[in-house]
Amino acid sequence: MTGYQPGEQPQTQRIIKLNTNENPYPCSPVVVETIRRTAAESLRRYPDPMAEPFRRRAAEVLGIEPDWILCGNGSDDLLTIVTRALVGQGQLLRLPYPSYILYKTLAELQGARSEEVRFAPDWSVPDAFADGAEELRLVFLANPNSPSGTVVSPARVLELAERLPCPLLVDEAYVDFAEMNCLDLVARCERIIVSRSLSKSYALAGLRFGYLVAQPHLVEQFTKVKDSYNCDAVSIAAAAAALGDRAWLAENRAKILATRARLTERLRKLNFNVVDSQANFVWATHDSAAVRPIFERLRHEGIYIRYMNYAGWGDGLRVSVGTDPHIDRFLERLENNLP
Ligand SMILES: *Cc1c(COP(=O)(O)O)cnc(C)c1O
Repeated sequence: MTGYQPGEQPQTQRIIKLNTNENPYPCSPVVVETIRRTAAESLRRYPDPMAEPFRRRAAEVLGIEPDWILCGNGSDDLLTIVTRALVGQGQLLRLPYPSYILYKTLAELQGARSEEVRFAPDWSVPDAFADGAEELRLVFLANPNSPSGTVVSPARVLELAERLPCPLLVDEAYVDFAEMNCLDLVARCERIIVSRSLSKSYALAGLRFGYLVAQPHLVEQFTKVKDSYNCDAVSIAAAAAALGDRAWLAENRAKILATRARLTERLRKLNFNVVDSQANFVWATHDSAAVRPIFERLRHEGIYIRYMNYAGWGDGLRVSVGTDPHIDRFLERLENNLP
């Protein structure tokens, strides 16, 4: 197998990095202080195996019970846990296309088969996405989706889940930048699992923390599959502190959304097709200009965005929402490099 290829992480400060949807602003100062204190006081012992301090805080914030929550070393860890728990060798996993490529790698790791169902041209999900198949064991849906930033409404998600013969994992890695979420559906339909990440909206990609929400009997089964101590003491404490700082999240979200609107408008003025995004990135395609050379020239100038080419769908540029000065610089260089 090929293995999953993460986006480039150049280890130098002198570039403008708009390629892996990181938050461009520093995390909440409350998080930094919590990390200092935890590092000084509590590294001698093993952490709580279920990340209980985080679960209690998240339960409070989300208005659910702690036993509906499972924590992971980033939400990728949770996607792995769920796949390992549900999908056996030779069985089938379904994913949308184009979307997060890791889902396919997870199937391969299980010796399982995967099946891609295409989005409609307007990025809605066709009915075929919910068709039953004998060996179908798990369906993934990134919502908001990457690379498009588009969302499927909760009503539609519920409709799909009710027709499916297996669990539907709704990957809400970008949901804090969106206007909707599927959390309430978990109680209404046992097949719906929602996963979330602190990497993007909480500016903690380097910390590695995510959680999922599912009905307790599922959480209990997933727990059997995870590493006993999959989350470390520092990240558990820091993630709990992050969720507690509601004001930081609201302010950060407002900044990102304002820059996203400006970026979208400017790209459209440059004749790119940009679908309305509910995430912290935008997907830009072009009818006449080849976008790959643009990506390469910008990269050469130290401006990193993501070039994606989806077989049978087309190619485009995925641009993360950065700080205003970084986005201005990107737009200026983009305009300059247009054919
Ligand atoms: C970034 C991302 C993740 C992974 O998040 P981590 O918590 O950093 O592991 C999961 N799903 C999607 C769609 C993402 O873009």
